Amino acid sequence: MTHAPTEGSGAGDRIADPWGARTPYGPEDAWPVRIDTFLDGVAEAQVDRWVHSACVLCSNGCGLDIAVAGGRMVGVRGRAGDRVNRGRLGPKGLFGWQANLAADRLTRPLVREGGALAESDWDTAMDRIVQRSRQQLDTPGPGSIGFYTSGQLFLEEYYTLGVIGKAGLGTPHMDGNTRLCTATAGQALKETFGTDGQPASYTDVDHADTIFHYGHNLAATQTVLWSRVLDRRRGPNPPRLVVVDPRPTPVAQEADVHLAIRPGTNLALLNGLLREIIEHGWIDRAFIDAHTVGFDQLAETVGSYDPERVARICGVPADQVREAARILGTGERLLSTALQGVYQSMGATTAACQVNNLNLVRGMIGRPGCGVLQMNGQPTAQNTRETGADGDLPGFRNWDNEAHIRELAELWNVDPIVIPHWAPPTHAMQIWRYAEQGSIGLLWISATNPAVSLPELPRIRSILASEGLFVVVQDAFLTETAQFADVVLPTAIWGEKTGTFTNTDRTVHLSERAVDPPGEARSDLDIWLDYARRMDFRDRDGKPLISWHDAEGAFEAWKACSRGRPCDYTGLTYERLRDAGGIQWPCNDQHPDGAERLYTDLVFNTDPEVCENYGHDLLSGAVTTATEYKASNPAGRAILKAADYQPPHELPSEDYPLLFTTGRSVYHFHTRTKTGRARQLDQAAPDAWVELSAADAERHGIGEGDLVRVESRRGRVEVLARITGIAEGTVFAPFHYGYFDTGGAEPDGRPRAANELTITEWDPVSKQPYYKVCAVRITKGV
Ligand code: SF4
Repeated sequence: MTHAPTEGSGAGDRIADPWGARTPYGPEDAWPVRIDTFLDGVAEAQVDRWVHSACVLCSNGCGLDIAVAGGRMVGVRGRAGDRVNRGRLGPKGLFGWQANLAADRLTRPLVREGGALAESDWDTAMDRIVQRSRQQLDTPGPGSIGFYTSGQLFLEEYYTLGVIGKAGLGTPHMDGNTRLCTATAGQALKETFGTDGQPASYTDVDHADTIFHYGHNLAATQTVLWSRVLDRRRGPNPPRLVVVDPRPTPVAQEADVHLAIRPGTNLALLNGLLREIIEHGWIDRAFIDAHTVGFDQLAETVGSYDPERVARICGVPADQVREAARILGTGERLLSTALQGVYQSMGATTAACQVNNLNLVRGMIGRPGCGVLQMNGQPTAQNTRETGADGDLPGFRNWDNEAHIRELAELWNVDPIVIPHWAPPTHAMQIWRYAEQGSIGLLWISATNPAVSLPELPRIRSILASEGLFVVVQDAFLTETAQFADVVLPTAIWGEKTGTFTNTDRTVHLSERAVDPPGEARSDLDIWLDYARRMDFRDRDGKPLISWHDAEGAFEAWKACSRGRPCDYTGLTYERLRDAGGIQWPCNDQHPDGAERLYTDLVFNTDPEVCENYGHDLLSGAVTTATEYKASNPAGRAILKAADYQPPHELPSEDYPLLFTTGRSVYHFHTRTKTGRARQLDQAAPDAWVELSAADAERHGIGEGDLVRVESRRGRVEVLARITGIAEGTVFAPFHYGYFDTGGAEPDGRPRAANELTITEWDPVSKQPYYKVCAVRITKGV
């Protein structure tokens, strides 16, 4: 059936204009409502019902309703009353839901037979997983089982997985693809403020007089938040805007100062900005003395980063550094945001900490217009980090704090020794290394596609294909990763199941089941509940370890786990979320309607009994011990950490003379598993490309649209060239593109996944891979 699109008010041509019509407003006003609707082939009167939900195609978490007609999804409409988006939806939100209707959804479990995947049934598939799990548990033990999950599932699913892994199996090897996108955000918040959790709120855009976007192309990654910034910029008393990005993104083009930095040099620039602010006395000394520790060391560390030195390292004019610092140093209400330009680059956690430090030395936190958003990439990454599905312990508990372990053991009624806490949790890059070396024999991958998203793909494909590794993949589609699996479990996705999720600014939304999943597909929650039953996980009294049977039961269990912790959900219920839309945590007796921003009392979560970990040495990544941490006596004060800039390890050379960096398109999310199956989004950006400067193009005899080969020491891609205003010496490619729709890299198709080129290296503190810097060469033709 072919549908003609019916676009409601405000939707316009959201492909040509991703941010929609401006609704200007001033600092004392509420952000005006603009309701965006897209119905595919039906008029509004034909919609049978609108089902309460929110968008899961980026971390903005826009409230929306799903339109259902004849038992099928037919469109979406932004929720006017939602605090996050006030009715707006971006291109991914408007069109991305159509992936649910794709003809190639998985509808039955698949098992590997004679080298090929064959359709099967749930009992056969689950029996194979249970049998392999028992084998691994017998010999060599729980440490031979690894889980690699997502930033796209629901809170209830993550928490259930977390309890299975930590209290059922007892494996320390759990992480999410959040390691690739938000591990640094979480870690930088822990290093500075004691625990994860964003200090600021999106409403701080409404009040700020200065906005600082560092490595954060929100025009592509959080289009609705960018609409909010643009609306402030077009209204009375607009905020000043400072942007750091090597590319001339729409955000950079809007800026008052755009620092087109050389990839890999963030820390030198941030140290230089802090030096200027300190040198000019643009600091709040009383705030620093009362509410922080570490200022003297910070001042000493940044002292040698004068603008000329920064200019030499970072490739930006010294006067621009001075002007950016003046803007950041002289406003009254500073909102700073960071994303992958910081998190996926050299010195990631240290650089992200300097973004925190900028606000702290200016005393700008915990009040309207003042704060930090260490943004998340994926829509539900916050929940992966909160619930323990990423290896951290649930409720921001500290693996190195025996009292926190005892709390969990009592809650789950298990022996504390079962809960892995003898070392920091295993991070994803190490889990993959263990799989490569053979010590992990069962790797269970859910709702993510590492065969496109991890660095150095030739290595990842080889690990997935290795003989001794039993791979389970849980997904809605036969992804590039699923093709390697021993068992593939077909899943229900957003709109076909009920659950909650939390966006970057701590807003919790309920997303209800609107339609049935296709065929025999099941929710990830039902799959893990089934696994727990079949494995017969029991508590200390012989009762089932997992006592809940549905999403609301899992949510209630999570609430009990979150009680008293910074991410306290105890004041939330499905009914409240249904009635009120998004509500921010903490929501409890103290904050019955949720908390707009954290740290309004200027007491940070750094007390040793509260904090989520004791931090790290930022240069080496060495863990700080409890004794060392207590000796620094932060006691509720924020921790100003600093370190010297270190250059990237793989720099341009004669053979590989250009710097390679990856990023995102406004039309796609992650590896296009969903957005590549939404007609408008796919047509807007159907194939991979590479961006280079006019000077580099001329030097290599490359013209716009030429097919080029880009090679690193690890692999190559063959894609079309775009000549843009990107900094000379830098080459950019979007990371979204894999091979599900091209027949494979070789021999049938040309290699086009940006991660064929990237390097297996990561930040020593957050363990987030460096996608933003490696050396490549480029040639015309293939
Ligand atoms: S900004 Fe993000 S959450 Fe909002 S509609 Fe776009 S993709 Fe969805």
